[in-house]
Amino acid sequence: MKSHYQILIIGGGTGGIMTAAQLLNKDKNLEIGIIEPAQTHYYQPAWTLVGAGTYDYKKTAKPMAEVMPKGVDWIKDYATGFDADKNTVTTKTNGNVTYDYLVVAPGLVMEPSMIEGLPEALEKGIACSNYTNPEHTWETIKNFKGGNALFTQPTTPIKCGGAPQKIAYLAADYFRKNGLKDKTNVIFATPGSVIFGVKPVKDTLMKVIDRYGIHFKPFYAPYKIDVEKKIAHFNHTAPEENRCIINEGNELGEKMLGDADIQIPFDILHIAPPQAAPKFVRESNLVNAAGWLDVDHHSLQHNKYKNIFGLGDVAALPTAKTGAAIRKQVPVVVENILLLKNHKDNLNKSYNGYSSCPLVTGYGKMVLAEFDYQNNFTPDPKLKQMLVFNSAKEHWRLWMLKKYMLPNLYWNKMLKGKNV
Ligand SMILES: Cc1cc2nc3c(=O)[nH]c(=O)nc-3n(C[C@H](O)[C@H](O)[C@H](O)COP(=O)(O)OP(=O)(O)OC[C@H]3O[C@@H](n4cnc5c(N)ncnc54)[C@H](O)[C@@H]3O)c2cc1C
Repeated sequence: MKSHYQILIIGGGTGGIMTAAQLLNKDKNLEIGIIEPAQTHYYQPAWTLVGAGTYDYKKTAKPMAEVMPKGVDWIKDYATGFDADKNTVTTKTNGNVTYDYLVVAPGLVMEPSMIEGLPEALEKGIACSNYTNPEHTWETIKNFKGGNALFTQPTTPIKCGGAPQKIAYLAADYFRKNGLKDKTNVIFATPGSVIFGVKPVKDTLMKVIDRYGIHFKPFYAPYKIDVEKKIAHFNHTAPEENRCIINEGNELGEKMLGDADIQIPFDILHIAPPQAAPKFVRESNLVNAAGWLDVDHHSLQHNKYKNIFGLGDVAALPTAKTGAAIRKQVPVVVENILLLKNHKDNLNKSYNGYSSCPLVTGYGKMVLAEFDYQNNFTPDPKLKQMLVFNSAKEHWRLWMLKKYMLPNLYWNKMLKGKNV
C-alpha cells in the first residue's frame, strides 16, 4: 500500500468504482487508490423489487473484490477526515494518504434518529424500509391482513426520491391481486407538494394513484413514530391547505391536533429514513451550509479546492440522487481530472443535472422519469429502439428494462467503465 496516489477515491460504491474504471480505461498507468471498508458492493436500485418479492436480494450483492477495477489499490479502510490544504485524507487504521486529485464518493448515511421513535420502530420491525432491509419489507407486505398501509418519506434529501412511492404502488397492486383491496387503506404521505416534479410523469402518477385508490397526502412531514400505539405523527408543511384532510379523517382514523400534529394510525409502515452526508464529510470544511459536499453543479469540481471532485449521493447537487445521475456525472469528473492533470483548465461543465427515476407502478408496469436541473422531461432517444415511444406512460417494456436489462448493464458495463 502506498501513502500517495495520483488519484485517490473515497468510496467503492457506484460513483467510486465507475470513476476508477473509466479513468483506467483512458490511461491504464494512472496510480489510483480507493478507500473502501465494505466487503460487499450492492446494486441498490433492485431493492425496490426485493421489497415487493420479485427479485432475489442475493443477486443485488457482489463481493467488493470482484468489482474493484484491476490496477487500483483497494485500501480496506474508512476515511475519517480531510486536510485539504495538505492534500491529505486521514483513515481509521492506515494513517494519512495523500493525493494529487481526490474524488469524494462515500454516498450518504441513514439518520433514523432524526425522527423520534424511528430507530426503535426499525429495530423492532414495527416499521419496514427498502432503504435498510428490503427483505423485511417483503415479509411485512406478504403478512399484511388489511388495515392502514402507510408509506412515507422524510424532509431531508434521500437517495432515489421515487423509491418511497414505488413500493406503495407495488404493495397496492399486491393487495389488489390478493383480495385485500377492500380491507385496506393505502396511504402515501410526503412532505412534498406534488407526487413528482416532472409534469408528464406527474400526470401519469396521479392516474396510478386514482387507479389504486391511494390516499395521497402532500405536505406531510413525519416527525415521530409511536411504536406502542403504532401511530405516525406528522407536521403539515403547508397548514393553509390542511382543511382537505378532515373529511377523510374518519376512514383512516386520522386525527388532526393542530397543524403541528397530525396522527395516522398504521398497521404497516414503510418509511425512507432521514438521510445525510457521512459524518466525516459533514464535519469537514468541504461542505455547504446544509452539510453536503460543496461542488460546482456543472463541473463537479469542489468550489474551494480545485483538485477535489465529488459525485453521487454525497454531492450537493440539486437533482435526484441516483445511480442514473452518476452515470452522467462520471465522464465529466474523469475528463476534468485528466484536463487538470494535463495543465488545462478549460473544464467540462456539461453536467446538466440529468437524473432518472424508474417509477415502478405495479408488477409488470413502469414509467421512466428522466429529467435535468430544471425538471424538463428528457427521455433517452435510445428508448425508441426498445419500442418505447412515450416513457412518461406506463409500459411493460420499461419493467423489463428495470428488472433484467439495467442490473445486467450495471454489473457488466457501467462498473467496468464502458459507455452505456
Ligand atoms: C431502495 C433504493 C432504491 C433505489 N433505486 C434506484 C433506481 O431505481 N435507480 C437509480 O439510478 N438509483 C437508485 N437508487 C440510488 C442509487 O443506488 C444510489 O444513488 C447510488 O448507489 C449512489 O452511489 P454512491 O457511489 O454515491 O454511493 P454508494 O453506492 O452508496 O457507495 C458509497 C460507498 O462508500 C463507502 N463508504 C462509506 N463511508 C466510507 C468511508 N468513511 N470511507 C470510505 N468509504 C466509505 C460505502 O461502503 C459504499 O461502498 C436506489 C437506492 C435505494 C436505497
